[in-house]
Amino acid sequence: MSIVAQKTLVPHPWRKLREIQMVVRAVRAVSRRCLELSLQGLLRRWVDTGLAQQVTPWACSRCGAQEPSAFRRNGTYRRRLSTLAGDVTLEVPRLRCLCGAHVSLVFPVLEPRRRHWWDVWLQVVEGLGERVSVWHVRDRLQRRGVYLSRSTIVRWLARLRLPPLGAIPGTTDEIQADGLYGHLWGPLPHRWRNHTYALVIAANRDPRCPEKVLGAVLAAEEDQEAYRSLGDLLLSRGLAPEGSLTVLGDGAPAIKAGLGLSFPKAQFLRCLWHLSRLVADLGPPEARLALRRDCRRVLRAPTWDQALARYAAFRRSWLERAPESCRALAEGFEDAMLPLLPDGPQVRQRTNGLAERMAREFRRFLRPREALRSAATAPALVALALAQVNARHRREDWLVAFLGAAVGLPQRLTQFRIPLHT
Ligand SMILES: [Zn+2]
Repeated sequence: MSIVAQKTLVPHPWRKLREIQMVVRAVRAVSRRCLELSLQGLLRRWVDTGLAQQVTPWACSRCGAQEPSAFRRNGTYRRRLSTLAGDVTLEVPRLRCLCGAHVSLVFPVLEPRRRHWWDVWLQVVEGLGERVSVWHVRDRLQRRGVYLSRSTIVRWLARLRLPPLGAIPGTTDEIQADGLYGHLWGPLPHRWRNHTYALVIAANRDPRCPEKVLGAVLAAEEDQEAYRSLGDLLLSRGLAPEGSLTVLGDGAPAIKAGLGLSFPKAQFLRCLWHLSRLVADLGPPEARLALRRDCRRVLRAPTWDQALARYAAFRRSWLERAPESCRALAEGFEDAMLPLLPDGPQVRQRTNGLAERMAREFRRFLRPREALRSAATAPALVALALAQVNARHRREDWLVAFLGAAVGLPQRLTQFRIPLHT
């Protein structure tokens, strides 16, 4: 085959482009038209079925009439709705009462003052949920012909209704608690003294439950009250207050003080890694490496008796040089070593590594959002982060839960029979 002959077989890039454009435009026009007809049909059907009933779902605001015979059709008015397929124009039916007053209709598919169709809303929540910045969400919409200002997006986020967490999907007997700090911008919530916030989380270590983070609570400080709220959240999700539960933490006294109120029978354990780091940090700088190594040797003992013997040896060699370290180890020894006792709690992990990893995921989610982390938007961001962290493990679409909450569904929506993404 000659080169010349081969060349003619390859279509010119302009030609390709033109055809792609034609297809994209046609699809857009058809979807726009289809959307318009569907919405229009729903509006009409709502009025038709309402008028076919003995008592309509509407009432005259002046005389209170509700029977269909009192109402007359009174033409339509025009409303524009911005959608991802382009702007659609709707002819919204109107009704008038025999007394002369206007009957206000509320359509399920078209709330008063709604200017954007749900596909725009879904695009915004999905984008923000996937850590897309507000600026990028705005630009993405603009490329699709939808103008939404940055402040509108932030307002949507601030007003985002949060889906109820629902019951914990499975049983758990082992949780890890941890806290992380961040900065809150703008006006402070009631009774907050400074702009630092604490986010305390409970991570589930039990493989029988597919959810990784069982709860997250935003608080002014990582104190007893914050962990008590976290405990109450877990109780509200169905965790038994009297059940056998072990809670692993980094040694912050607030964990035991707070969660102990919600779960009086829980056993609190200390993370080995945090304890050995604390012991090392309390010693003289030049001895820290050795201190940490020796401390780890005590904590990693295979039996309780060996642990006691190693602890005695640790004390002998360090009491003079690092008395503070010895005191810290003495204080934390029992809480860290309980799993070695024959009737002690059985845990799958003796460090709170999982909670730390989950805290890192939250930090990664919340950190780049400086301008967004106001008191008004922080709860929504935390809820989106929580949904993201768990969705990966629960293998479910997190967006439907937010859609369900947005339309006012009181229970948690976990699946939507029609895919949201068309
Ligand atoms: Zn009337």
